[in-house]
Amino acid sequence: MQSEGQSLGQSTPHTIEAPVTSTHLTPTSARIVIVGGGTAGITVAARLCRAIKNPNVTIIEPSEQHVYQPGQTLVGGGVFTHDQIVRNERDYIPNAARWMKESVVAFLPEQNAVVTSGGQNIGYDYLIVAPGLQLNFDQIAGLEGHLGKDGICSIYTLNDAVHTWRMIDEFKGGNAIFTFPATPIKCAGAPQKIMYMADDTFRRHGVRVDSHVMFATAGLRIFGIDAYVGPLNRVADRKKIERKYQHQLVEVRPGKKEAVFTVTREKIQGDQRVQEKIQEVMPYDLLHVVPPMSAPTFVQTSPLAHMEGPDKGWLKVDRFTLQHLDYPNIFGLGDVIGVALTKTGAAIRKQAPIIVHNLLAAIDGRDPAASFQKYTGYTSCPLITGYRKLILAEFDYSGKPVPSFPWDSTKERISGWMLKVYGLPTLYWHGMLRGLV
Ligand SMILES: Cc1cc2nc3c(=O)[nH]c(=O)nc-3n(C[C@H](O)[C@H](O)[C@H](O)COP(=O)(O)OP(=O)(O)OC[C@H]3O[C@@H](n4cnc5c(N)ncnc54)[C@H](O)[C@@H]3O)c2cc1C
Repeated sequence: MQSEGQSLGQSTPHTIEAPVTSTHLTPTSARIVIVGGGTAGITVAARLCRAIKNPNVTIIEPSEQHVYQPGQTLVGGGVFTHDQIVRNERDYIPNAARWMKESVVAFLPEQNAVVTSGGQNIGYDYLIVAPGLQLNFDQIAGLEGHLGKDGICSIYTLNDAVHTWRMIDEFKGGNAIFTFPATPIKCAGAPQKIMYMADDTFRRHGVRVDSHVMFATAGLRIFGIDAYVGPLNRVADRKKIERKYQHQLVEVRPGKKEAVFTVTREKIQGDQRVQEKIQEVMPYDLLHVVPPMSAPTFVQTSPLAHMEGPDKGWLKVDRFTLQHLDYPNIFGLGDVIGVALTKTGAAIRKQAPIIVHNLLAAIDGRDPAASFQKYTGYTSCPLITGYRKLILAEFDYSGKPVPSFPWDSTKERISGWMLKVYGLPTLYWHGMLRGLV
């Protein structure tokens, strides 16, 4: 690994000595720059460094820490500690790659360059965009300064996940509301997972009889994929959890412990059905907030984003080949891409080998139509339905389950829980981030 901050001037080709790790290495001096060293950036970098002889791969990533985000749900549920899911970023940068500890602030695709926070123009031959997504807590009025206290928590940041467990553990009864926003989010099952663990904890502590637990979602149903709607509704019924649909959290009033929702309703006007929006105020004692999410601002405002339509602001890639729709030497994967239901680490595990294959085919000058591989939209959401219970939802663009195991994937199982708690973290740190699985 070379030191951070080295200049990669556009005109200067950089060749880095890489350990030879395979007998079928592609020889290329193409400069490959990866924006973001999270799940997607590191996984794809590791695979590129295994596939290319003397790879010229640069990862631009500002953070010194790498967080195993799927573990945040288990931190919020008191199963994992903060430290169990954090490692040094340095230890996961492939030896053959270069790490620039900076942020990208702008894309200059016409010049094949990105601009960094340090003011450098970094040239590339191929660019991989993987900066994740942005949590927009600031779009909820009144929330600033109250997350992690006043009964308001969220598993969507690591520190707040720690507070989430404290609040669930210390809950003395009352209204516990778990929200879901009106935007695409990462791991769409996580808002329910923490709710089911909270419900179990309240029962164990004997405070559930004095509590009302509610799932207040901006969506139209409990989960986006048909096959899991029935099973999840049955879980919620069993636990006596109320569901409120088309309820979007827009404001909190921590002083009064009130949550304000914009509610979309249908009403009959003349002989037509029309939608109206009303405001509903609900008292809470515990409020689990899932913020609206978007692509990072520097992506949204760049020429690389969708300019209109349902994916506006998200990275404009072909959803099968993951190649940018306007700039063929740019690829993207992970949470940033404009494909709603695939924002999981599990999806990235399937996207990374596709990107590597397609990028090497592009470097080779092969015909994309004949040689590019296609991502199926595979994603997985291990839906924790209580301690030691889990529905392993796996599906693809078809919206149909694509189970990895030969049994009914819509059933709650202890084996799924064991996989989530013991199997997947090991697979992540030792397999996926090393480019092995
Ligand atoms: C609570 C929770 C539960 C989850 N549960 C699951 C689960 O059970 N299963 C599952 O598969 N997935 C789960 N996920 C989702 C999974 O963690 C994400 O989908 C995955 O981490 C996304 O990877 P990414 O690389 O796209 O983004 P990230 O891993 O977020 O990485 C993005 C990286 O880009 C860097 N970056 C940001 N801006 C810039 C910039 N300007 N320049 C350079 N670098 C930048 C960031 O520092 C970061 O390191 C969960 C996530 C959360 C939060």
